[in-house]
Amino acid sequence: MENLIPNEEPLRQEYFMSEVNDIIHSRAMDKGAYPTYKVVTFGCQMNARDSEKLSGILSGIGYTEAENEEDADLVLFNTCTVRENANDRLYGRVGQLKKSKEKNHDMIVGICGCMMQEAEEVEKIKKSYRHVDLVFGTHNIYKLAEILFDHLTTKKQIINVMESADMIVEKLPNKRQYAFKSGVNITFGCNNFCSYCIVPYVRGRERSRKPEEIIDEIKTLVADGVKEIMLLGQNVNSYGRGLEEEISFAGLLERIAEIEGLERLRFMTPHPKDLSDEVIEVMKNNKKICKHLHLPLQSGSSAILKKMNRVYTKEDYLNLVKRIKTAIPDISLTTDIIVGFPGETEGDFLDTLEVVKEVRYDSAFTFIYSKRSGTPAAKMEEQVDPKAIKDRFDRLLKTVQDIAAENTKKNEGKCMPALVEGKNEHMEGYLTGKLENNLTVHFKGQERLIGEIVDVILDEAKGFYYMGHIKTSEV
Ligand code: SF4
Repeated sequence: MENLIPNEEPLRQEYFMSEVNDIIHSRAMDKGAYPTYKVVTFGCQMNARDSEKLSGILSGIGYTEAENEEDADLVLFNTCTVRENANDRLYGRVGQLKKSKEKNHDMIVGICGCMMQEAEEVEKIKKSYRHVDLVFGTHNIYKLAEILFDHLTTKKQIINVMESADMIVEKLPNKRQYAFKSGVNITFGCNNFCSYCIVPYVRGRERSRKPEEIIDEIKTLVADGVKEIMLLGQNVNSYGRGLEEEISFAGLLERIAEIEGLERLRFMTPHPKDLSDEVIEVMKNNKKICKHLHLPLQSGSSAILKKMNRVYTKEDYLNLVKRIKTAIPDISLTTDIIVGFPGETEGDFLDTLEVVKEVRYDSAFTFIYSKRSGTPAAKMEEQVDPKAIKDRFDRLLKTVQDIAAENTKKNEGKCMPALVEGKNEHMEGYLTGKLENNLTVHFKGQERLIGEIVDVILDEAKGFYYMGHIKTSEV
C-alpha cells in the first residue's frame, strides 16, 4: 500500500482524506450516524484561521460539527502559548474529557497548535495524558487526515510535531466561521524576536505565500459571497521576502484591491518598524482598504522599546503616526501596550502615556507584562513592583478610555457603512455591525441583513461602541 501513497502535497493529504472518509463512512453505516467533531480554539486570529482549516478537513472526511466538546466524537484543542498560564486552562479541559471518553470509547482527543511546538508539553502529554490520541504542531496542521488515519488504523497515540515548516501546502479545504468575511494568511511565522514573545520559537521563520495563491483564494472566497477579507501575518509589512517574484506588501494590497466583488480589505498586524510610505499611499488611494491601522506600540519609552527589541524609538513611532495622519486624516488607529516590562520606570511609563495622548487611539489592548519562559525577557532582572504596575495600568486604562470616548463622540450623528455581522445576543430585534474603523454599532434591523453592508446613523457614542439606527431606505 505504501507505494500507492503520493509523496507530493496536497495529493498526499487528498489520498488520506479519502482513506479516512472510507473508514468513517463504513463506521457510520454500522452505527446509523456520522461522527461529530468540535475544534476548540485558543489565542489569536492566526489560530482561528487554522481552526477553519482543521474544521474543513474534518467536514471533508465525514464529520459533522457538535455543539460542545463533551458530546463530540472528536475534540481538537488548537492551543496558544503566548501566556504561560494558558497551559493550566488547557490541561483542565483535556483532563475533563477523560470521563467523556469512558462513556464513549471511540472518542478521539487531539491537541495541536503553538503549545505542542514545546517539547516539555509533548512530554507531559505522553506521561500524564494517555487519553490524548493526536498531537501535532503549527507546521503540519495540513496533515490532520494523515495523522488521524495513523490513529484509526493503529489505535495508538500519534505524536507528529515538526520542528520547522518544510512547505506551505495550498488548496486544502476549510470551513469558514462567517459566510461574509474571512481571514486569509499571507505570511506564516515571524523573524522579529521581540524579547517578550514566544511566537518566533513556536511558529518558526517567516514564510510568504505566493501572490497568485493568495489572489486565487480571495477570488474563490468572493465568488462564495465573502465581502470582507482580513489579510493575516505576524508582520504583514515584510510580505514578499524570500519569494521568487519581487513583490512588496503594498504591491500585494494593490493587486488584491483590484479583485472585483471584494468590498472591504483589512490586514493585521503591521509592525511599526517597517510600515512603508508605499503602504500608506496605497491605503490612501484605495477605497476598499479600510482606514484602520492596528499599530502595536508596546511601550512609549525608547529605552524599553530597545529592551523589547522592537527596533523603533518613541520618535520613530510618532513620526510614522504623523506621516499616516497627514496622508489619511480620518484614519482610525488602535494599538497594543504592555505595562510593567522589566526595568520600566515611572519616567518610561510617562513616555507611554505621552504617546497615547498624542496619537489618540480609538482603542487599545492594554496588558500587564507577564513573564513567558523561553523568551529573553524572562531572564531579565529588575522585574517591576506589582503595586506600581497596577497603578500604572489603571492610569493607562483611564487615559485610553477617556480618549476613545472623546473620539467616538466626534462621530455622533454621522452616517457610516457597517458590515452586519449578526444578531445582538442581548437586545431583542437588534443587529450588530462593524464600521470601517473596526468599531461596533448596534441597531434595530431584520436578520436578512446579516452579511450585508448597510448605512447606519451613529446616534450615541458609548465609549468603544455606538448605538445607531439604519438609514430608512435600507430597513
Ligand atoms: S512581531 Fe514581535 S510580538 Fe509580533 S509575533 Fe513577532 S516577535 Fe511576537
